[in-house]
Amino acid sequence: MSIASIDSTAEQKKVILSVEDVTLEYLTQAHLVTAIVHTSFKLFAGDRLVLLGPSGCGKSSLLKAVAGHLKPTAGRILLNGKQIRSAGPDRVMVFQEFDQLLPWKTVLGNVVFALTASGNMKRKEAELAATHYLHKVGLNGFLHAYPHTLSGGMKQRVAIARCLAMRPEIILMDEPFAGLDALTRQKMQDELLELWRDIGFTMLFVTHSISEALLLGNRILLVSPHPGQIRAEVTVDPNTFGSEGDTRFREISERIHNTLFRDIADYSI
Ligand code: ADP
Ligand code: MG
Repeated sequence: MSIASIDSTAEQKKVILSVEDVTLEYLTQAHLVTAIVHTSFKLFAGDRLVLLGPSGCGKSSLLKAVAGHLKPTAGRILLNGKQIRSAGPDRVMVFQEFDQLLPWKTVLGNVVFALTASGNMKRKEAELAATHYLHKVGLNGFLHAYPHTLSGGMKQRVAIARCLAMRPEIILMDEPFAGLDALTRQKMQDELLELWRDIGFTMLFVTHSISEALLLGNRILLVSPHPGQIRAEVTVDPNTFGSEGDTRFREISERIHNTLFRDIADYSI
């Protein structure tokens, strides 16, 4: 990718999130663990930015910091120009785990609860919004079902609907499909892209799967471990790929793999 193409993107789009020279560390009883070191990137309005890297490279730590649950030990993170100091409903996370829902509330109840908890929405309005987004994720027939009666994929759909209904500035997704079987995972990826086309949210998505990154991202940041650092950025042309089986797709996957594990590169595909 040429620097010029990054600059032109920056000119056209609004910067939503700015991560500036951020270092993230954990102080454990035994020692200091550096999860992310001197990392900077920007997230533009409407981006589907993917953080891609192997386990332990600091992806979840970065998301936690953006969510406001982990304070940088150096650098700063700005949301719409304002430094992030705590969690807020303007950043909502979807996790990998299927137990993100309140087991004693129905599907509808879970989403309504999230909407009314912040005090911004009245119950009636929350019910309308919740029903609207649960329809969008195809759960209209399950509004009154309890979480334990749902499949893993359906639970993730509820979590996604809840997140979208809150209309956050940024949707944070930490490997939301990693626990699903391959077919469901593929379906959920397609559905997420469909929702993005429909609603047009801004998303920061974490995965360790190269193919998932290529399918979902418009930009991919390659993060390498020990300590976590961005090695390269890949810009994905939405017209480049047909499907995962394509020669081009496999070629790019291999290049990304090599970049993450061997050389440093900066290119577009
Ligand atoms: P990823 O999501 O890419 O797998 P993480 O952000 O979870 O990576 O972890 C990055 C590094 O920080 C790892 O070395 C991990 O062991 C360490 N780490 C993560 N959470 C904690 C924690 N609560 N306490 C101490 N070390 C942690
Ligand atoms: Mg993680």
